[in-house]
Amino acid sequence: MTTALPLKPLFAPLGLKTINPGASDGMRWSGSGPVLDSFSPINGQRLAAIRPAGPEDYDRVVRSALAASAIWRDVPAPKRGEIVRRFGQELRKYRDPLGRLVTIEMGKSIQEGWGEVQEMIDICDYACGQSRMLYGVQTHSERPGHRLYEQWHPLGIVGIVTAFNFPVAVWSWNIALALVCGDVCVWKPASATPLTAIACQKILERVLRQNGLPAGVSSLVIGPGAETGERLIRDRRIPLISYTGSTRTGRHIARTVADRLGRTILELGGNNAIIVTARADLSLAARNVFFGAVGTAGQRCTTTRRVLIEERVYSAFLRRLRSHYDNLTIGNPLDPRNLMGPLVNPAAVKVMEEALATIRAQGGRILLGGRKLTGRKYPGGCYVTPAIAEVPSSLPLLQEETFAPILYVMRYRGGLEQAIALQNGVPQGLSSAIFTNDLIEEETFLSARGSDCGIANVNLGTSGAEIGLAFGGEKETGGGRESGSDAWKGYMRRQTSTINWSRETTLAQGIKFEPGQPRPGLTRKRGDP
Ligand code: NAD
Repeated sequence: MTTALPLKPLFAPLGLKTINPGASDGMRWSGSGPVLDSFSPINGQRLAAIRPAGPEDYDRVVRSALAASAIWRDVPAPKRGEIVRRFGQELRKYRDPLGRLVTIEMGKSIQEGWGEVQEMIDICDYACGQSRMLYGVQTHSERPGHRLYEQWHPLGIVGIVTAFNFPVAVWSWNIALALVCGDVCVWKPASATPLTAIACQKILERVLRQNGLPAGVSSLVIGPGAETGERLIRDRRIPLISYTGSTRTGRHIARTVADRLGRTILELGGNNAIIVTARADLSLAARNVFFGAVGTAGQRCTTTRRVLIEERVYSAFLRRLRSHYDNLTIGNPLDPRNLMGPLVNPAAVKVMEEALATIRAQGGRILLGGRKLTGRKYPGGCYVTPAIAEVPSSLPLLQEETFAPILYVMRYRGGLEQAIALQNGVPQGLSSAIFTNDLIEEETFLSARGSDCGIANVNLGTSGAEIGLAFGGEKETGGGRESGSDAWKGYMRRQTSTINWSRETTLAQGIKFEPGQPRPGLTRKRGDP
């Protein structure tokens, strides 16, 4: 018998019950789908039940969102920013219980659970500032007495579909920006993490209600991807789907939404590499690779999956890396001494075991780890030791993202060009990094012939991005951008306006189109106007 998780102190403040409806438009909760249970990977305990959104619940929520959109878009952007700021204030009060719930439902370490809520707070602050900076450009017209400018308007409803591994932060990146942009949002979270979604929705809807806002500004629809998700992506009332998840599902979503000429923001799988050159600080590199590969139990889109090490320093680097793995503490992630908790569910453990078998079959060697942990300290069947696999660069599995703590190490001897070619030689393009103290190597890596990823770091790892700049990746990672910089533009429609403040009509490109003026090559006939 394993110790039960401390749910009572979390459920009460977060408004969770043993049975929870899974659809809300911000005022009314309902749920008519077949019951979904939420389990903790920490010990396999059933946490609570959810009644997901059935077709009628879904339709009610979207109708409410449409009505709210007509009101919310008229609220001045800085006032919308103020509401998002108040949401951030409210989140500060819930940092501890919400962070704990993230850990309990998803399994990441408590440090990372709290960190995720901190990321929500950060994006709220950022979005509040952004609400005063929804800049459009203006330029000089070629015509006298004319002014040209671009302005940005809300799109309407944004459908947000999120993955299990960042159950609260990814939603907040989307909703904080979408709200200041004047959009309303309908969120479909991953079925593995419904309780964190309900808790977040409850915190935000309280803020919206306290500020006199109507139903429909923020909505939630919990349900299976193949049903609730499909409804959302096919819904012509929803002009933008922001999707975060695997490339396989992302490809389907991109096609489905494109078929109705809707828009998507796609944040898909990564397959991130770090290059360690002979000029690197090897201790610094080993520390960063360790966090990148083992943090969140290898279940980040930005997890370090491959390390390309210059042959001369291969053994010295691996020695340092091994010593970190040797000192890793694995166990209940609510205990801050444990750096690694369980994988999200037993299916994820199976994926890892199958990948390890494939690596062996394809000619790789498991240097350490890759064991399923059992016994009293590891209840529930989701704990593993992270693996390091020494592989040839031709290993077919290297082309895929395996969402588990498996780190591939390989040598390169053909100079930095070869390392960059290996790094770029996969279908995904999310995050990348180089460890070197050589300016020429660093600048080559960052140049147009260097990394082809959306994120390219120097002397730090592939994961753990801040919210201040755009986040996202190229190639099969989908090309979407979220978070900082000008990512807000993805949530708005652009309108180009020309204003004529003269009393004349002047056409662009010098075209003359005036009655009574013969045009060259044309003979006026009698009766022509
Ligand atoms: P997943 O693709 O299984 O599910 C993601 C979401 O899509 C879930 O909410 C799921 O219910 C929904 N879904 C599934 N089928 C659908 C359909 N037909 N229509 C609409 N929605 C549907 O992904 P996952 O296992 O939850 O997450 C892990 C993946 O997410 C990894 O590949 C990881 O790299 C990726 N990820 C990417 C980023 C990024 O920013 N690039 C961030 C986090 C996670």
